Amino acid sequence: MKRNAILCMLSGGIDSTGALHQLLSDADYANRDLLVHHIILQNRENRAQAELDAVSRILDYYQRHFPDRPFVYTESIFNTMGFAPLQSMRFPFDMDVCAFMAANIAVADKNIREVAMGRTQTDLAGGGDLKLRMERAQRIFKSVYSLERESPPNYIFPVVNFSKAQIWGMLPDELRKLTWYCRHPSYQADGKAISCGVCSTCKEVAAFRKPIN
Ligand SMILES: [Zn+2]
Repeated sequence: MKRNAILCMLSGGIDSTGALHQLLSDADYANRDLLVHHIILQNRENRAQAELDAVSRILDYYQRHFPDRPFVYTESIFNTMGFAPLQSMRFPFDMDVCAFMAANIAVADKNIREVAMGRTQTDLAGGGDLKLRMERAQRIFKSVYSLERESPPNYIFPVVNFSKAQIWGMLPDELRKLTWYCRHPSYQADGKAISCGVCSTCKEVAAFRKPIN
């Protein structure tokens, strides 16, 4: 008998890295297998390479620091760059793509009974239409299961009681520096991503990140 498994959707950002860190270090999760999935989201925001680089660094960190807690890693590509002729700001929400992909991975691997997302206290306090967007993502997730015999896995939120600043404080210093949080990176000639310093998450992180000497 294979064990039940948790699927962790990892973007390379602070929140989902916090969720993965809890799954790997909290004894409450130790009796389940773990799968980690990254979606390469190629869209007009141009974050895909910065996020993929962060994910590679984070995976390398866990292989070095948590060798006794191995996990399966998979990735997929969701590319809406071809929407350009529409000249529209609209493209699928990350959360919706994540829900659709997570459900399809869970359908493919029946041992997955929980799906971990990096939702935080900061998200829930944010208000706006986030609650409606989360409900829509849940409907997308469940709709993938409409032709399956088993019930959908449960979503779990390992860092839902943490603010983004608390996750930053909880993560080991080496690890948190490997995450990527800027919404609008630019790239050096050698491909290295540079954060913009002015987007909402850059400002949010700057407020609690200690200056590096
Ligand atoms: Zn930024």
